[in-house]
Amino acid sequence: MMPLIELKAIYRHFWVGDKKVDVLKNISLSIFSGEMVAIMGPSGSGKSTLMNILGGLDRPSGGTYKLSDMNITALNDNALAGLRRERFGFVFQRYQLMASLTAAQNVEMPAIYAGQNRNFRRRRAESLLASLGLEERKDYLPSQLSGGQQQRVSIARALMNGGQIILADEPTGALDSKAGHDIMLTLRQLCDQGHTVILVTHDATIAGQADRVIVLRDGAIINDVKGTKGGITAIPDCREPGFNMPLPLRSISPLTWFASSSTDALLMAWRVIWARKLRTFLTMLGIVIGIASVVILILLGDAVQDQVLKNLHSMGTDSITIYPGSDIGDEVFQRSLTYDDIPLIRKQPWVQAVSATVSSSERVRFGSRDIQASISGVSSDYAHLFELSFSEGRFFTDAQVEAGAQVAILNSSLRRRLFPRDTDVTGKVMLIGTIPVIIVGVVKEKPSTGEEGLHIWLPWTTVAARLTGTGWLNSVSVKLRQGADGAESEKKLTNLLVLYHGRKDFYIRNSDTIRKSIEKTTGTFRLFLTLIASVSLIVGGIGVMNIMLVSVTERTREIGIRMAIGARARDVLLQFLIESILVCLTGGAAGLLLSAITTQVLKHWLPGWDIHLSVSSMLIAFSCSMFSGVISGWLPARIAARQNPLVSLAHE
Ligand code: ADP
Ligand code: MG
Repeated sequence: MMPLIELKAIYRHFWVGDKKVDVLKNISLSIFSGEMVAIMGPSGSGKSTLMNILGGLDRPSGGTYKLSDMNITALNDNALAGLRRERFGFVFQRYQLMASLTAAQNVEMPAIYAGQNRNFRRRRAESLLASLGLEERKDYLPSQLSGGQQQRVSIARALMNGGQIILADEPTGALDSKAGHDIMLTLRQLCDQGHTVILVTHDATIAGQADRVIVLRDGAIINDVKGTKGGITAIPDCREPGFNMPLPLRSISPLTWFASSSTDALLMAWRVIWARKLRTFLTMLGIVIGIASVVILILLGDAVQDQVLKNLHSMGTDSITIYPGSDIGDEVFQRSLTYDDIPLIRKQPWVQAVSATVSSSERVRFGSRDIQASISGVSSDYAHLFELSFSEGRFFTDAQVEAGAQVAILNSSLRRRLFPRDTDVTGKVMLIGTIPVIIVGVVKEKPSTGEEGLHIWLPWTTVAARLTGTGWLNSVSVKLRQGADGAESEKKLTNLLVLYHGRKDFYIRNSDTIRKSIEKTTGTFRLFLTLIASVSLIVGGIGVMNIMLVSVTERTREIGIRMAIGARARDVLLQFLIESILVCLTGGAAGLLLSAITTQVLKHWLPGWDIHLSVSSMLIAFSCSMFSGVISGWLPARIAARQNPLVSLAHE
């Protein structure tokens, strides 16, 4: 008959500093299916080391290990995890149950990593616990169970995925003799049902219940005998049916693995987070503040840009303004723009309207009130050009401009100052300097532009003839026809005027280029705000990373247990990664809520501003928190996944 386990010349040494310690020396051993083998020997003789190699938790330094003719020594870490999961069941002296999980949840654990569905897991865990007399205790935490009961939970866990080979390292070592006796009876029963049981003990009476006793001393086998008491000398041919339900080895696709493990990992992560509420909350606070500041500053940046562009729009879009002088600040060509330019420009097919502007500043008077105001002499096209609307009266006509009529338009601020109590001011006569004018209209205030100063408009002919007495213009405003290209028209206009004037004694401002430069400036401003906000998000992320590292250290033993019962490195990685993503996403959601509240407050403070949470800000919050979750979870998760299960299990 072929042995189930076959060790040939197994060596194991450790390096302690630069000193080589030989722990196992030339171990050759065959164990058959259905045997119950006890390994005895003094403390330090290498029993646990041998068990760990048998169970695929450790690798020999030399020799070969075959399990049902499969060469174990050649397997990679993932395949070893697979063996631990599917073929072996570990029972430890100190039970190694997870303190935060109930008995049933502990028992279910190996099946999670084997990709079994929830219902199946629950039913099997419950029936295993029931068959070990723990039906009533399935929802108890380990701390609420006696040592003997905890050990039976760990036996149930070892059987969860079939447990073809049960490896028990001093399973009764921490129990009183009665509980120890019960555990031995259970192991004996399991063996009778077809499981192969290998146990380590230093108690001769316990060893006597095995079929076979192997004695180790100083890492070598010094005796290998059939047991005497209660032992069965021959392996029975037929076994009672029982727990021995070897489950088929499952090879699952990465996608199925991800789908099933991530839901379980999410559940486990939630339990961990809930168990450390305060700590998680404080860690999360960093992310909450980070996400809220990113979202709010982006919203504010958008609102500021909106506001600036709105103001620009109120100045008139697709308009070009021509000023005298070769550029801003030039004093030489102050007289280069004249009335003669106006009809010339108006004739161009791409021009819709033109207005000359002659500016001045004068004292204006009505009754006893006397105020300094800025005066613009413009053409009748001006109202159309700057999209003015009127709360009273209307703009002056072409005929009034031709005639140099003494008519005036006020802006709302000036009207309030001069006529605080009057309901209608059109038709009233006021003084500009010494010249009487009739008020024909009042310009309606635009909500977005805010305080506008005190302003009055007259026909430019009137201003030129009666106030300034000069022949030149301060600027010429041109409105383009719908669809005319701003830059193109600016070029044509330049060529036209250069030809006419004989030199370039003017400069041009185009609302389109102004808008572009403002957009560029506010864009930079927004980027700057976002960068500042990102700093707080990064700080929050570092907080999460830090706590995740602490958590990995705290849960070293838990990681060891998970790996011993068959978790792959990627299972552990996924679990910690999902935990940090969950923390960050929850923090992100809270941050979004905080931004929504702040938005309402800001709206109150800045009426007229368009501030609101948009879909894109939600997407930004989601992706930023997801991203910080992955970034801050990655390093801790990798550290966790790279742990050596043996070292982790020994961690206190
Ligand atoms: P037992 O279980 O029989 O008491 P172990 O197998 O635990 O003995 O250990 C056998 C010997 O190997 C001990 O002397 C122990 O100090 C040594 N040993 C075990 N693990 C390591 C290790 N990781 N590094 C160095 N020495 C080790
Ligand atoms: Mg030991």
